[in-house]
Amino acid sequence: MTRIVCIGESMVEMAPLETPGTYRMGFAGDTLNTAWYLAKLLGDRARVDYFTAVGTDPVSDQMLDFLTQEAIGTANILRRSDRTLGLYMIQLQNGERSFSYWRGQSAARTLAQSGQDIATALRGADIAYFSGITIAILSQHDRETLMTALEEFSTSGGEIVFDPNLRPKLWTTPQDMTQAIMDAARLSDIVLPSYEDEATWFGDQSPEDTARRYAQHGAGIVVVKNGPGEMIVHSDAGLSRHQPEKVSAVIDTTAAGDSFNAGFLASYIAGGPLDQAIAAGARLAARVVTYRGALVEEAVLGHELAG
Ligand code: AMP
Repeated sequence: MTRIVCIGESMVEMAPLETPGTYRMGFAGDTLNTAWYLAKLLGDRARVDYFTAVGTDPVSDQMLDFLTQEAIGTANILRRSDRTLGLYMIQLQNGERSFSYWRGQSAARTLAQSGQDIATALRGADIAYFSGITIAILSQHDRETLMTALEEFSTSGGEIVFDPNLRPKLWTTPQDMTQAIMDAARLSDIVLPSYEDEATWFGDQSPEDTARRYAQHGAGIVVVKNGPGEMIVHSDAGLSRHQPEKVSAVIDTTAAGDSFNAGFLASYIAGGPLDQAIAAGARLAARVVTYRGALVEEAVLGHELAG
């Protein structure tokens, strides 16, 4: 059975309800969203674990209970008595969503203080999945600790999957961000970037440029997502193009990329060929964007791992 470890930050999410001033509390975060979809899609075929740091307070317990209930393994999650979960609040104004974050001191920021903890979490795993947000919340020292642990994981045969998920607000300077992203990509076997962000921060002139840049840094497979636009894929077979599903009424693009990654990886893990995995990712994301919120149960129902 394949074992996947997703590494990153899961936050408390406060999403507005109809009555002004009322919110529904949930848990979300880019790597958690992918873990959630992977666990749903793969069921008994895989074990999906989450690796992060949380507090020892009741809300941290609640998050661990949530993960357990969703069949995501929590055994190696670190507990910090002096910290708690980060939080974000979604505000709706004239139909537009905006996000406010309280995550500067979150427990997750300490997830990579010890290389030993990361090695323990990755022991026996087949795939490690992380993102640009995972590395953005770490100090430079801890980021290097994570990179070293991932490098050891890779040397011992583990496969590394990385979504650059560029978030300049989480970095001191854009240069720090682009440098750290390329350092992380260099360790990765599969890189799953989104073109719009890559064009803005790396100056790529086309999705092909993005695919080539990551391929030249050693990624065996690069899938460049591009919203409703054509995806560009770089693999052993060279560059190929894939049209995503057409969506007539997009409701909310939250977690489009995260769910694409899960749909893609689930199919890839199940042994599907690359183009079927891409189609499966696009199919899942196309359903997710027709619902509000990050974790969409309805989008998973009836999903086939093959494209
Ligand atoms: P993004 O990260 O925005 O490039 O989106 C990730 C993936 O979600 C894309 O590769 C598509 O498969 C899917 N997706 C996002 N937005 C749309 C859309 N408006 N219509 C169809 N698919 C979409």
